[in-house]
Amino acid sequence: MQIIWQDSDNYEDARIGRVFNHRRPQRFPLAVVRATCEDDIVAAVQLAVERNCRVAVRSGGHSWAAWSVRDNSILIDLGNFKHVEVDAENRIARATPSMTGRELNSVLVRDHQLMFPGGHCPDVGLGGFLLQGGMGWNCRNWGWACERVQAVDVVTAEGNLLHCNAEQNQELYWASRGAGPGFPGVVTKFHLRLNPYPKKGGFRSSGYIYPIHLYREVFRWIIDISPNFDNDTEIAAISHFPEGSNEMRFFVLFVTMKDSVEAAEEALRPAQQSRPAGTVEEWFSKEDSLDEQYNNQAGANPEKHRYCADNAYIADDADVPAVLEEAFTTLPHRKSFALWYAMNPCSRRKLPDMALSMHSDHYFALYTVWEEENDDRRCQDWVRSVMEKVEQHSVGAYLGDSDFQVRKTKFWADENAKRLMEIRRQWDPTGRICGYLDQGDVSGTQGLGNAHEWKMR
Ligand SMILES: Cc1cc2nc3c(=O)[nH]c(=O)nc-3n(C[C@H](O)[C@H](O)[C@H](O)COP(=O)(O)OP(=O)(O)OC[C@H]3O[C@@H](n4cnc5c(N)ncnc54)[C@H](O)[C@@H]3O)c2cc1C
Repeated sequence: MQIIWQDSDNYEDARIGRVFNHRRPQRFPLAVVRATCEDDIVAAVQLAVERNCRVAVRSGGHSWAAWSVRDNSILIDLGNFKHVEVDAENRIARATPSMTGRELNSVLVRDHQLMFPGGHCPDVGLGGFLLQGGMGWNCRNWGWACERVQAVDVVTAEGNLLHCNAEQNQELYWASRGAGPGFPGVVTKFHLRLNPYPKKGGFRSSGYIYPIHLYREVFRWIIDISPNFDNDTEIAAISHFPEGSNEMRFFVLFVTMKDSVEAAEEALRPAQQSRPAGTVEEWFSKEDSLDEQYNNQAGANPEKHRYCADNAYIADDADVPAVLEEAFTTLPHRKSFALWYAMNPCSRRKLPDMALSMHSDHYFALYTVWEEENDDRRCQDWVRSVMEKVEQHSVGAYLGDSDFQVRKTKFWADENAKRLMEIRRQWDPTGRICGYLDQGDVSGTQGLGNAHEWKMR
């Protein structure tokens, strides 16, 4: 086990070298432990107990607000603890939390023709992603990625290793599916149910790119057709500046995962037949793959950039195109983008009993991307100003694209939030695990209040 204390030469690299967002935090762990096995994780938690300091965890390093970088903590970096074991017959994978979606799927697709609907960005770690719920591939139909978590292995705040599932240590299992960074332990392994990978060229996409002035008409179309659209197809609308262009565009993307070219074409045809006129570019049922999609996502979210993300679940009955018009048509930087992601019908079904419990038909997120530090204020002010208005029409937000230092809102149904905060206090009464990073990092054992704080002002 490698321990890098604050006075070590490589401390700065250990502190933030694996943090995706280059808007760097001024927070300084006492030490970083590079764990390579479960025993290292147990030893690191015991070290924190001995030193009476907190424990922070990093899996993939992709939390926008760098939740892994905390004062007065031992940061357990799981980046060198990568392991996956596949039981293809039963369609189960056992994977460590720093495995990324791409790493896991490269093994599953290549060797077993299976897949796991992990994060859209290839390099997001399973750890942060699954603890929050996980809006993975085709979430609107296949459901939340955490619904495929059968069990988790956990090192508790006291340093004990436990197996948690529906029969044993049920509370930790319940919390691991939606607590996000407030989970009161360190997950060492996820036991995951897998999907078959689409066969015979059935992974295909259609895209329709419009000038931004057609925003309202196109958005209404997509909202109308989404609820009854094919159930192996995910649907997103994005406003962005295509590479090399100064014109903002409104781009609607359908990605379907079927078992033949014919089935994919049939799934995508209703969009082709009903699309509004006026595209500047379009394609129908183009051959695609997970790898190709990962490359596109990596291109849209470049490394070594500065980011500010926020999001909202817009109320089902809101006039969504009107509510989101400012967000989609006034992006502050050419690299930034706004996303609407169809969640219906998943949003209309009763979720399993787990911490994750907040959603609506319309997921909306801002991914504000820029390069220069002197754009920090302008870009963050833009996000804040847009979100102040959007929040009035929202029912809550997703932990995964949130920063509680800026905005706290509803992240769970009331009952689930209450139970989650009780489980946190029961399993970590001293606040050993850092938990939710709010302003000043003071939330501790209290956790989050689960209220629309801006709306209430
Ligand atoms: C470019 C990009 C694209 C994204 N796309 C998606 C997407 O498609 N769908 C989606 O749902 N989200 C998406 N996200 C959000 C992403 O899921 C969250 O940021 C998530 O927290 C990242 O997980 P991580 O392990 O990489 O991050 P980390 O920063 O390593 O972890 C975040 C926090 O989670 C907790 N944590 C992580 N691992 C453990 C563990 N083993 N035990 C206990 N606690 C742990 C800790 O509090 C940690 O600080 C995206 C983010 C980025 C940057």
